[in-house]
Amino acid sequence: METKLIKIAYLYENLMNTYGDSGDVKILRFLLKRQGYETQVTNVSLGDDFDAFDYDFIFFGGGQDFEQTVIAKDLQRHQATLSKYIHAGHPMLCICGGYQLMGSYYKTNSGITIKGLNILPLHTIFKADKRMIGDTRYMTEWGEVRAFENHSGQTYFDNTDQLHPLGNMIAGYGNNPQDGVEGLRYRHFIGSYSHGPLLKNMNVANAVVKMILAHHQERVAAPATK
Ligand code: GLN
Repeated sequence: METKLIKIAYLYENLMNTYGDSGDVKILRFLLKRQGYETQVTNVSLGDDFDAFDYDFIFFGGGQDFEQTVIAKDLQRHQATLSKYIHAGHPMLCICGGYQLMGSYYKTNSGITIKGLNILPLHTIFKADKRMIGDTRYMTEWGEVRAFENHSGQTYFDNTDQLHPLGNMIAGYGNNPQDGVEGLRYRHFIGSYSHGPLLKNMNVANAVVKMILAHHQERVAAPATK
């Protein structure tokens, strides 16, 4: 029997939330409520137990280099469950600092290399030339998106056959100053540099709601094998 409760995990909600990223979760709750669903948001923070398969959706926001360093080691405890969840095609949205940590590493401007989860073939590096700040516009499969970016890390895909960008830049930098692309789409995983928050763009928000509801139906019908 269908339950009307959508379970959302917010990874390190108290530490990873720059430039209004928690607004993404608020918008999803609002849209889901309009469709008759209650939502339960769990802050999965330092030291907490976490099984990705207990959730309908996982959100991971942006963070300063300092907060990324604080959570990096703890995050590794969840590598296996997140990797299985993402590769199974379940929905997850990662913004900026959270997006960077899904790759192999992020080398910061102070020369520290923060180990990522190595779930997706990408890496992020600071290059002396640029901090990427400002409004962005890009074209996605759901139409145009307008947002705000502020990052010093430049993200590069290591395997371009497997990974597709979320969008093609119209204005701003996106993943890095060279490639002219923003973010990442992999199955039902979205990575993005967009704050503002991203999901104020209703075209993307509605697409994410669809992904969440599809996964929810599947999860309540037959709990996934872990
Ligand atoms: N600290 C990272 C960077 O500067 C991510 C920033 C963010 O999440 N806003 O690239």
